Amino acid sequence: MEMTVHLCHSRGRMAPDTSTRKPPINWPTVLFIAATTLAALLWPLYAWFAGVTTGQIVFAIAYYLATGLGITVGYHRLIAHQTFKAHPVAEAVLVVLGGAAWQGSALEWTLDHIQHHLHVDTDADPYNRRRGFWYAHIGWLIRRETLDHRRRIPPFLRNDRVVMLQHRYYVPLSVVTSLLIPFLLEGWGGLLLVGAVRIVALHHTTWFINSWAHTGTKRPYNPEVSAADNWLLALVAFGEGWHNYHHAFPSDYRNGVGALAWDPSKWLIWSLSKIGAAHDLKRMNPAVVWQRRVEATLAYRGPQRTRENLVDATRRALEKLARRSEARLAALSAATAGPRAAGAADLAELRRRISERADEWRRSRDRRALARARRIEDLIEQLTLYRDLLTRISSASAC
Ligand SMILES: [Zn+2]
Ligand SMILES: [Zn+2]
Repeated sequence: MEMTVHLCHSRGRMAPDTSTRKPPINWPTVLFIAATTLAALLWPLYAWFAGVTTGQIVFAIAYYLATGLGITVGYHRLIAHQTFKAHPVAEAVLVVLGGAAWQGSALEWTLDHIQHHLHVDTDADPYNRRRGFWYAHIGWLIRRETLDHRRRIPPFLRNDRVVMLQHRYYVPLSVVTSLLIPFLLEGWGGLLLVGAVRIVALHHTTWFINSWAHTGTKRPYNPEVSAADNWLLALVAFGEGWHNYHHAFPSDYRNGVGALAWDPSKWLIWSLSKIGAAHDLKRMNPAVVWQRRVEATLAYRGPQRTRENLVDATRRALEKLARRSEARLAALSAATAGPRAAGAADLAELRRRISERADEWRRSRDRRALARARRIEDLIEQLTLYRDLLTRISSASAC
């Protein structure tokens, strides 16, 4: 008989009528959280008497980063949302690292997370923020359904050998990687710091995504859900703090969509793609993102003040983008003897001149000029879209 200890993620789901029946207490999870928390609290005392080595500190920080990225890149963006494809070796490494964070197997984690996205802010959401901050943070882990989730494993998980193998050997693998190795390499101090302190810190970092990232008012892409963008959380949680964008576009491999938005998880995925360990990275088209953002803002029927703030923030962001596109267009069009694009008529004239000269560049095989022409056409398209959206959003703010 297969026996699996489920830590941190449930097998089942709360039925919508939770008022009628309380799920049982999940003792393995409760005892694990209590034991690791106690051990983490004892570490300073241990360090005071026994000392702490540089090796232990470096090991703990490196392991914190590696296992945290195992969760965000491996469990979350690769397995749960399939935002990119990975070489099986890279997938196995990411998933084993994720397991060392003790948040359940990738399979269990994903089954919960799918329900979270499908039923966010309802009783069918395992970490429903509407039931309170602490419920979404840790309370949901305490009482768990024990339904047999194997009946509802979707094919994309069932057919993933790495996921199914990790699920089968999750406990021994995680004991070895997160407890035994630190103990063998760094003794009791290593076990307490790399095992307990690192696990507890990582638990709360992840749980903050369910609690803190569902608290706040920065909800530019979908104001109807509790998921909010939070730069501070993005900073500590490997880029996962851009949670409103993530709930609006969960199939995008990025959570921080701006080029400079802090998102180490997206940088790691991009880097993996450069060495051939990842491919098929999914990105939302900026035109779709901005169209959706403006539509969501205009459709928002919540408090007037929130609506005004949303309209204002969206307008300012679009103005900034339009200014940036104008500057790039001016710089590029200067080299083509076209008009310095400003108004819609100038853009049409610039587009006409570019297409007129494209044949000439094609004949002379002037690749640089052709690439520049393509870039100009893209910029004209973007700028036209931003201006259209600005007109729509400005007329809404005038109402
Ligand atoms: Zn969420
Ligand atoms: Zn997600």
